[in-house]
Amino acid sequence: MGLLAQGTALDWPAAKKEAGLVRSWGIKQLLEIWNKAKGKERDAMLWGDEVEYLVVTYSQDDPKVLLSLRQASILEALACDKELSQEGNAPNGSGSPANQPLPVFHPEFGRFMLEATPGKPWGIEFKELLEVEPDMKLRRRIAKDHMLPDEYPITLTTFPRLGSPGVFTNPFYPVSGSKLRSQFVPDEIANPHIRFPTLAANIRSRRGRKVQVNVPVFRDEQTPWPWRDPTVNFDLHEWPEDDDVRNGAAPDNFIHMDAMAFGMGSCCLQITFQAKNLTEGRQMYDQLSPLGPIMLALTAATPIYKGFLADTDVRWNQIGNAVDDRTPGEMGEAPLANDRWRIPKSRYASNSTYISEDSRLRPEYFDPDLVIDESIKQQLLDGGMDDRLATHFAHLFIRDPIVIFSEDLKELDMNKTDHFENIQSTNWQHMRFKPPPADNSIGWRVEFRPMEIQMTDFENAAFSVFMVLVTRVILSYNLNFYIPIKKVDENMETAHARDAVLSRKFYFRRNLFPPARTARSSGSGASTPSTISRPPTPTGPVEDEYRLMTINEIINGTAYAAANPAKPGADDNNDDDDEEDDFPGLIPLVESYLDSVNVDVATRCHLATYLSLIRKRASGELVTAATWIREFVAKHPEYKRDSVVGEKMTKDLIAAVIEVGRCEAEEGKGWGEVVGVPGLEGLLGGLR
Ligand code: ADP
Ligand code: MG
Ligand code: MG
Ligand code: MG
Ligand code: MG
Ligand code: MG
Repeated sequence: MGLLAQGTALDWPAAKKEAGLVRSWGIKQLLEIWNKAKGKERDAMLWGDEVEYLVVTYSQDDPKVLLSLRQASILEALACDKELSQEGNAPNGSGSPANQPLPVFHPEFGRFMLEATPGKPWGIEFKELLEVEPDMKLRRRIAKDHMLPDEYPITLTTFPRLGSPGVFTNPFYPVSGSKLRSQFVPDEIANPHIRFPTLAANIRSRRGRKVQVNVPVFRDEQTPWPWRDPTVNFDLHEWPEDDDVRNGAAPDNFIHMDAMAFGMGSCCLQITFQAKNLTEGRQMYDQLSPLGPIMLALTAATPIYKGFLADTDVRWNQIGNAVDDRTPGEMGEAPLANDRWRIPKSRYASNSTYISEDSRLRPEYFDPDLVIDESIKQQLLDGGMDDRLATHFAHLFIRDPIVIFSEDLKELDMNKTDHFENIQSTNWQHMRFKPPPADNSIGWRVEFRPMEIQMTDFENAAFSVFMVLVTRVILSYNLNFYIPIKKVDENMETAHARDAVLSRKFYFRRNLFPPARTARSSGSGASTPSTISRPPTPTGPVEDEYRLMTINEIINGTAYAAANPAKPGADDNNDDDDEEDDFPGLIPLVESYLDSVNVDVATRCHLATYLSLIRKRASGELVTAATWIREFVAKHPEYKRDSVVGEKMTKDLIAAVIEVGRCEAEEGKGWGEVVGVPGLEGLLGGLR
């Protein structure tokens, strides 16, 4: 594969012994790059997206749709073709936008997954925002062109029947392999590169039991209650871990899953931004952080697990649980024996601290119980890092490295960042602060990671572009989204609720604007829109700075939300204490910003279709993918109102998704014309 280091991966007992060494070398490498890169200035405002795909095997005549495990062969075919393009021989009519090299494909955890990124990051020009969707379509086409005729790249977050009894992979492998020890998925479900099975096995081994991914089942009219997951075998005796379910790992009313693939096998949409300098990167990290749960709920696309409708709509916590390597002591379920701390969250979770030196960042916003490694923090301080950033990294470094290659322990190479990245890249938080690589060739970057992948490239482009515009607005108007980080955590939980986008409220800051006197503009030279009042930054109680808002209010503003209320039945339990003060809304802010900068009419019109999608998803005028999938299942002739998503339903759902993709590739067709796929207008509107 060429992209991943080869070597001898240590099993957990051996890796555990080297954990301290890897951390200390990682910190040395971090300080090296910190000292090299902290003064970097004027890096370009670049950004890039990552799209992840499931690969399915589908044919009309075959009653089953399966996950194709041919990731390696597909990547190989793509790599061969890429060599051609590097010699300047891009395939004729490739559709690649001018000056944009062909997309890049990457391996992923699931052997049924692919990732694709643009050939080079996008720049600052507004026109480039229009190249994203064609590039995403091109990626899908190139991927498809390197697959077998009955293989398709699709952008559902999860395969609905992953882990269901019977055959769901092509080729078939029996379950209960030695690495995962899962009741439901074979070891071969993971990318065979030694890194991935080792990651899964060492997480399990460190934990002392299998991972435990329990999702509340959706209770429909005919769902037996209490509900016991009928696919769990309580009488298996092949591995010691088979005791887990006898020890309570599979409680009633939950869909029970027991392997990393159930989480890391999900597809998402990530956006990485390069900041002009360290200060701006830290600002972007903090300001985008409270938007994470909002965008998670808004992109909800994950209502089915293991052949059952779930009572949640998003993937996030399932991934968190699927890679949770904490010991019972660290989780607070047993006395702390050999471990250093109780740790409240999985290493895949919402981020736990802010990192900017912004004067608006009040001490009250931090988590007073943040767990950090004090000695690592001291090393970073001694190396010249400031307290706040040292705290961030000292928090990431409470984790053990999970996969260690013995070859990498021979000597410390200060021209690399491998040991730092070992810990950094297995802290899967909803924001990631990415230092420059060892050669300092690019700038400080911030990655926004919570969004769910959408079925169409139109939607994926819309959400990517929206996040880019929001980031520009944040920087131009110096917006302040700070709320206490614990409220971001709470919002993240709230985002999981079924149809949270319409049914729940989220903590959000009331006043985004800096006090009038210190209001400054930067970047594009845009000024704060005069239509929006700017009371002074409150200095009173922190609790007065935020309130519960609907996503409609957050995205569209209180005026639009009042005129276009989300569907009735929204949760109003918390209404007693909130005053309905005005909130401008992110879309109106983006529009003010676009008004203030030079965007040509055609570009502006095109951007308007993206903003319209976001606006309508937030208001409920359009449904989320999660709702669309639920409705697809509910209307299916085979659905018995018992929460079971059978093989025929799965096949028909995937067929619909493939059909939508096929029609999307053909320009000039409205969604209403996509044959045999109901409800697309409700998902996508007339927006094309
Ligand atoms: P990871 O998987 O670690 O998040 P990837 O390399 O898969 O990283 O993707 C990161 C994204 O960042 C890609 O879309 C890529 O185009 C983009 N990118 C690369 N270099 C830069 C840069 N200097 N600034 C901003 N984005 C960049
Ligand atoms: Mg990537
Ligand atoms: Mg990656
Ligand atoms: Mg990825
Ligand atoms: Mg990424
Ligand atoms: Mg209210």
